[in-house]
Amino acid sequence: TGLKKYYAIGSRFPGASPRQLRAVDDVSFSIGHGETLSLVGESGCGKSSVGRSILGLFPITDGSIELGGMRIDRLSSEAFRPVRKKLQVVFQDPFSSLNPRMKVRDIVAEPLRNFRSDLSRAQIDRKVGDVLDQVGLPRDAIGRWPHEFSGGQRQRIGIARALSAEPELIVCDEAVSALDVSVKAQIINLLQDLQRELGLALLFISHDLGIVAHMTHRVAVMYLGKIVEIGTRQEVFCQTRHPYTKALLSSVPSMKAHGAGSRRIILAGDVPSPVNPPPGCRFHARCPSAMDRCKVEEPLLVSHGDGHASACHLNDVNGEPAR
Ligand code: SF4
Ligand code: MG
Repeated sequence: TGLKKYYAIGSRFPGASPRQLRAVDDVSFSIGHGETLSLVGESGCGKSSVGRSILGLFPITDGSIELGGMRIDRLSSEAFRPVRKKLQVVFQDPFSSLNPRMKVRDIVAEPLRNFRSDLSRAQIDRKVGDVLDQVGLPRDAIGRWPHEFSGGQRQRIGIARALSAEPELIVCDEAVSALDVSVKAQIINLLQDLQRELGLALLFISHDLGIVAHMTHRVAVMYLGKIVEIGTRQEVFCQTRHPYTKALLSSVPSMKAHGAGSRRIILAGDVPSPVNPPPGCRFHARCPSAMDRCKVEEPLLVSHGDGHASACHLNDVNGEPAR
């Protein structure tokens, strides 16, 4: 109760052994009560791994995760249960993330059965009806099957399931990526309304910067397991520092309205493998601004004041990086 902040600090995560796959390598951020932090980057950058680690779906290698000032990454499964209730997830695919053999009532009530054994069946039904209301579904949805609903409605069912546990943080892992544009906007609006109403913290994992630009408070840009830039929406989208962020923004047509990337920056080559990531700056082989030192020296995340930070050697050149 009264938990106000979520922290994931200095976390290093395991991967496929025996070679070390550094899916997430020394990532730090915090999310406040009622705040949305978006994790963006190409697929394979480690953003989903961060989300899964916070949810306790796999153990972290190093670092720590805190919820409301309490370490939650080394808890026994028994001790983690009440914490897990506060951390819920909405996945990408509303078609496969809902069990087709369960009625909506049972899907939405799943967290209640897991975490609230004190509730009677009538209390559970009332609670399920309430969260269906909250997500804009009719109460009679309770007796129906997932296949009777559209993609957007199914995602509302997924959100209702997350809400029934009364979470403090919801991890939205590409939660709107599979939906049509107009439905995306509806689901984003719903999440924002719920956030305002309930003070939810949202970790919004997405490769779609166009969507993120419209709804997030803060953004962390990931590349090969590292955060390369983090800041408020305004800082990252309008005072962009990192060449990778600039390249990502330049590929989003609607970003031009935000004044970012007037010219499309084409990234050369593929994303390198996170197994044996490149030395120096991990982005150097694809970076239009790469210098000699970028191949050998890893840039540190440098603060530009407030919460805006980026990891690029251009930060050292003439104080201000070139635009
Ligand atoms: Fe590009 Fe060098 Fe900056 Fe890396 S450190 S983003 S290679 S300029
Ligand atoms: Mg993913």
